[in-house]
Amino acid sequence: MRIVTIFLLGFALLAVLIWVLILGKRNADKPDFTDLEAIDVHAHVLIFPPVFEEALRRLRMRIVNICYINKDDQGFETLEPQQTAAIRIFQQSNGAIAWCSTFDPQHWERPEFVDQTIAQTRLAFEKGAVGIKIHKSIGMSLKSNTGRYLLPDDPKLAPIFSMVEAHKKTLFAHVADPTTAWQPLRRNNPHYRYYKNHPEFHLYMHPERPRKETILESRDRILKRHSRLRTIGCHLGSMEDDLEELGRRFELYQNFAVDTATALNAMMLQPRERARAFLMKYSDRVLYGTDLGLVPWKDPKKTVKHYEEQLARDYVYLATNQTITFRGQQIQGLDLPESVLRNIYRNNALKWIPDLATEPRK
Ligand SMILES: [Zn+2]
Repeated sequence: MRIVTIFLLGFALLAVLIWVLILGKRNADKPDFTDLEAIDVHAHVLIFPPVFEEALRRLRMRIVNICYINKDDQGFETLEPQQTAAIRIFQQSNGAIAWCSTFDPQHWERPEFVDQTIAQTRLAFEKGAVGIKIHKSIGMSLKSNTGRYLLPDDPKLAPIFSMVEAHKKTLFAHVADPTTAWQPLRRNNPHYRYYKNHPEFHLYMHPERPRKETILESRDRILKRHSRLRTIGCHLGSMEDDLEELGRRFELYQNFAVDTATALNAMMLQPRERARAFLMKYSDRVLYGTDLGLVPWKDPKKTVKHYEEQLARDYVYLATNQTITFRGQQIQGLDLPESVLRNIYRNNALKWIPDLATEPRK
């Protein structure tokens, strides 16, 4: 009897030991964040303070600094001076902070608009821009003289996309917004503050404007017509609340990928297995981005500290099975395999933004 007990105890101990070893090995298997040499493909950086330079070097990271135009966002009202700043930071950082240009679509009806935009974009490419960004004002707010809303696939914009396609550059498409924009505003919504401060994009209050589906279908027609135009849908292509539908678009359009900027939060609030299965299946289509805003009127030390906290939290969520607290909820990490992590954090960026393949000078 005693021998049997000892045998059973020994067996149980051995089982526990194996379990601990497997768990320990599983975490040790994952690369450190710095080993990933991550590229954050969605940031808005107007300055390059030493604290940021030091953080990037320590974290072995690169950034894509995206110009965009929104007349209600301080510092981003016009293309200049932000584009000049982006070029300067690109040079100062020896290429570690790549940059993406944009154009102002406000006067798209003027006869000179297309030629001017193409000339300006060509110049931006000569100065190292990795692509151009279009902003949600196309679809959500810009209206013609006759009262028609400008949609992304408007024929006026097509020659610009053709030109980007011919140059093998990347289109960053922030088209439409989270579905919340078309719904009544509720305090518990993650986007409550944003739409409170940006009522012009709270389309629930503007029922005369295009519906979300209309705008996304318009974007999809660009993907179809410009089949060699690498397009990155910002913020999970504004489809963060419908990953199944987003996956369907990936199947339809081989030239379509998305970044995770501000949309990882929405993913965290979904059932873990759904989010994990999506990232596993489409591990070649998702690029890591944060929407970092580094601006001269905010303390850069604080901004960089928050940024590093966000990077750490996102890494725990994507790479481990540990629990994080988000909006009062306990969220278990996705524990993605190393190959998927390397794709999301780096390889996809090199593939979808070919200019990044040029390594920065050390
Ligand atoms: Zn952004």
